[in-house]
Amino acid sequence: APAANNLEAFFMPFTANRQFKKNPRLLARAKGVHYWTPEGRKVIDGTAGLWCVNAGHGREEIKQAIARQLEEMDYAPSFQMGHPKSFELAARHAAMLPGDLDHAFYCNSGSEAVDSALKIALAWQRARGQGTRTRLIGRERGYHGVGFGGISVGGMVNNRKQWGVLLPGVDHMPHTHLPAKNAFSRGLPEHGGVELADELERIVALHDASTIAAVIVEPCAGSTGYLPPPKGYLQRLRQICDKHGILLIFDEVITGFGRLGTGFAADFFNVIPDLMTVAKGISNATVPMGGVFVRKHIYDGLMNGPENVVELFHGYTYSAHPLACAAASAVLDIYKDEGLFQRSAELSKYWEDGMHSLKGLPGVTDIRNLGLAGGIDMEGRKDAPGARGYDTFVKAFELGLMVRQAADTIAMSPPLVIEKNQIDEIIDLAGKAIKATA
Ligand code: PMP
Repeated sequence: APAANNLEAFFMPFTANRQFKKNPRLLARAKGVHYWTPEGRKVIDGTAGLWCVNAGHGREEIKQAIARQLEEMDYAPSFQMGHPKSFELAARHAAMLPGDLDHAFYCNSGSEAVDSALKIALAWQRARGQGTRTRLIGRERGYHGVGFGGISVGGMVNNRKQWGVLLPGVDHMPHTHLPAKNAFSRGLPEHGGVELADELERIVALHDASTIAAVIVEPCAGSTGYLPPPKGYLQRLRQICDKHGILLIFDEVITGFGRLGTGFAADFFNVIPDLMTVAKGISNATVPMGGVFVRKHIYDGLMNGPENVVELFHGYTYSAHPLACAAASAVLDIYKDEGLFQRSAELSKYWEDGMHSLKGLPGVTDIRNLGLAGGIDMEGRKDAPGARGYDTFVKAFELGLMVRQAADTIAMSPPLVIEKNQIDEIIDLAGKAIKATA
């Protein structure tokens, strides 16, 4: 066997690529808004890990809650039984969620949350006698994780097409990004929202509403470069779904828990989905956790439907894992005690100004922001799409900043505990990295 310190010994799904092998980047320690490499080099976390460490790294309160839970009860099944803390957590989530999103299903990741939400949507349609509604509608440039459900409704072409098989009967709406009309818009783009949402009407007409179960969208697409929807878009989607008996699912794995300066994007946009998926910030990424929140009519429909549909066989060994529930509860205390959602809202203008100060740097073709996150598009190299983005990401890391790369776009989403001078530092380093790769 290879030596334990030999990187070749490991299979790393995200990073088992040739680029990483040539130039490995390792993170060994984290605290607050910083990482340290094994050599002790300090790197400011411009991405809150992978959009997930909203309350900052190494939170003592979460550590203690996990330790206490481990002492009390390490594990309990949530299959045909349960444990009190999962119900307490669900009650706390219900109290902070908008509308009647009052019921929770817990799982272990965003991908599991998405697959679970799609299954719940299909089961609900069957329970009300609409079993012909099996079609699911996603959106181009949407990202919904790596399960078969998620890649099928997702709109990242490689992610969708390279596996050979997908869920049948899925269709996609166009993505929300109209660069020509909306380039360098601050916050929500002004133009095109209603027209874009009306693409759903076209798809409904094509397939017939009686075949469509649900539509899933990220309220603000994250992993494909951060694409805030134009004004009116989500409201219009909600209207169209209501008109045709189609369920609307918001994938809030990134936007949930404060990223937009509100608890959830549903609050920010004042649009309540029928189902909502979350992960990441739910546990501050300490213990893996995901969840699906559903509205009362979904829960009631499943519970009061025919017996054979009600006995849903869906759940994971680690659903509502006690350690995850303990972490999730502790991070809710932090969000509340430190007013982090409000803080995110207050900082978002400063962040917006910082991001847009990078306009005019060589090759920068668009900058977008919403809440405490944003994306910067750069002109790609003709012979090597994505190379500029990758080089910028590598350069930023060398300079001491962690950013996220998607093709020739750089995305950033700092922890919500970030200070203004640290935002200045992030913007300064991002600018230097962009200049260096021009
Ligand atoms: N949905 C969205 C919107 C996401 O951003 C992600 C992860 N980036 C996922 C689903 C998948 O989450 P996970 O990686 O935890 O499976």
